[in-house]
Amino acid sequence: MAKIGIPRTLAYFLYFPFWNAFFMELGHEVIVSPPTTKAVLDRGVEEAVNDACIPIKIYHGHVAKLIDKVDFIFSPRLVSLRKHGDFGTETFCPKFLGLPDMIRVSMDRLPPVIDTRIDLKAGKDELLNVCKETAFFLGMTAEKVIFNAYKKALKKQEEYQKILKEGILPPLALDILEGRKKRKEIPRIEPELNIAVVGYPYVIYDPYVNVGLLKFLEQEKVKVYTQDMLSNKELNGQKKYIPKSLFWYFSNRAVYGGLYYMKRKDIDGIIHVTAFACGPDSMVDRLLEIESHRHGKPYLAVMVDEHSGEAGVRTRIEAFVDMLRYRRG
Ligand code: SF4
Repeated sequence: MAKIGIPRTLAYFLYFPFWNAFFMELGHEVIVSPPTTKAVLDRGVEEAVNDACIPIKIYHGHVAKLIDKVDFIFSPRLVSLRKHGDFGTETFCPKFLGLPDMIRVSMDRLPPVIDTRIDLKAGKDELLNVCKETAFFLGMTAEKVIFNAYKKALKKQEEYQKILKEGILPPLALDILEGRKKRKEIPRIEPELNIAVVGYPYVIYDPYVNVGLLKFLEQEKVKVYTQDMLSNKELNGQKKYIPKSLFWYFSNRAVYGGLYYMKRKDIDGIIHVTAFACGPDSMVDRLLEIESHRHGKPYLAVMVDEHSGEAGVRTRIEAFVDMLRYRRG
């Protein structure tokens, strides 16, 4: 049995259930890095190249937390999750493609990195091959055992998607899935406003990165909707409303999510949380802003960086929420 380290950031918020179940079914122990803190960010800033965006710096910080605690670091080369053709030449942001190389070059004392290439352009069935390659890396060659682990992982991921579709945010959905929390323990609030928060999962769901934005909205009796609560059909249906999809998977999800919620009358406004030094976001933000104006939907872009303070972000959100309340009234 090996200890597999998974950094609690980037694809963690959407695909952790799949890989956790897969590795556990193969008999391994999965160790997740602790939640992001200033110390994690500072360590990431030391380790990563200077011009990296904040999420990539944070990723380095999480990897650093796992060194000495695990036998392997799972850092796949995420290339594409969708069939080629449906979304043109969509891939993950280039930084995801180079992630395993980046940590290998920048960080000392790394345990072996499981850097399986995840490229599902040929179709979803490719995922089984990805699983086989990952299992082979860990010395498991029994095809039947790998297939069973793959099936269990798919089932776990489906369960997770179902919880998200109930309108539960990923951090809480993961707690429910892993049995750490029960649905009935979730406090019921009578929302006074509905706001769609769109952006990259590793920005909007990480409370350190978003400087407590979701918590603050909850305190303000705002029901938060995100793109990850929508089905693929609902999201991809938005493709026809823009002349061309973007090149990057998470960017398309943020844009489609924004477009979907802009059309809903019960949604009072849209917040786009964007990361400093993110190239793709310069397109995403402008597109969402133009479309929000076209739909007459209030829009706020919040940029986070390593110096973002809670007070500054809070003041802007507070003003936005006040304006939406006034508008409703
Ligand atoms: S999409 Fe932007 S924030 Fe995400 S990894 Fe790429 S550059 Fe960084």
